[in-house]
Amino acid sequence: MKHLFGPVRSRRLGRSLGIDLLPDKICPFDCLYCEVGPTVRRTCQRCEYTSTAGILQEIDDFIAQEGAAGVDVYTVTAQGEPTLHTGLGRVLRHLRQRGGRPVVVLTNGALLHDAAVRQELAAADIVVPSLDAARYEAFLRLNRPEPGFDLDGMIEGLLALCAEHPGAVWLEILLAAGCNDSEEDLAALAVVLCRLPPSARHRVQLNTVTRPSRTAVVHPLTLERLQAIASQLQKHCPLPVEVLATAPVAVNTKDCNAAVADPALPSHSPWENQAERIVQMVRRRPCTAEELWAALGLAGQEAPSRALLERLVVAGRLRRQCQGAAEFYLPGTGVS
Ligand code: SF4
Repeated sequence: MKHLFGPVRSRRLGRSLGIDLLPDKICPFDCLYCEVGPTVRRTCQRCEYTSTAGILQEIDDFIAQEGAAGVDVYTVTAQGEPTLHTGLGRVLRHLRQRGGRPVVVLTNGALLHDAAVRQELAAADIVVPSLDAARYEAFLRLNRPEPGFDLDGMIEGLLALCAEHPGAVWLEILLAAGCNDSEEDLAALAVVLCRLPPSARHRVQLNTVTRPSRTAVVHPLTLERLQAIASQLQKHCPLPVEVLATAPVAVNTKDCNAAVADPALPSHSPWENQAERIVQMVRRRPCTAEELWAALGLAGQEAPSRALLERLVVAGRLRRQCQGAAEFYLPGTGVS
């Protein structure tokens, strides 16, 4: 599968089948915390970056072969920013008509000033836009947009989306220690939050860095600090402000590829067929072994599953990175 990956388990969404609209990391931003890696092309230019017909065909093939029984939601996303693809509206309508499950879009919000983009997003059941900073200094530091990017326009677009969208909007704010969590930064965010239209469908979710960044070392906030900030912002916000991170989060990262177990697998193994799916999943997001096994239906078959991961590490298709107590798999040096 070129555009589809998973289903992966998502804390918020359950079993999520990912639909990646872009062929590469194309994005208006180059966020410090990005799990995909450095932006290859930083742009706000909309375009049919890959064939929309090809994406629709892959969706149809998946539904025909596997059905929707193992899927809770379809999540339209990208290695970069999915609203850059001009086929977005067609893909969303297709999923609504054929998928039989809610459709979610993850977006960094950069193009929300564009009424045509908001109109296309209207076909999604849930839109999850991001706004990490409302102050230019923090925005430039953390999100590293293309030169001349209009943060104020993006914020107005976000407010318009919240007022217009017929489904739910879950606004995500990712906070990174020392980047966008100063009192000044929080005060600027509060000014935006107090302008959100009241709605029973919408909510605000605070998150922090929980997986390895492939771009830079970024430090998370503690759960206690996130909860304190949620209480602080809630005073200004007509929507519920929730903390998304549920477990204590890591404070440091280290490479942990040294200990490699026996990578032997039976040569005829059906596990071989899972290798490509694993590589495609971690290209979009670093995953723990448990997340990969759950996504691929391999839970309870630890020995051959671990052997497959080790084999991919030895082959350079995966590498491991520890963040706090958790060990993640990322694309290896042999994967572009
Ligand atoms: S985190 Fe999202 S918005 Fe930021 S660079 Fe990565 S893909 Fe783009």
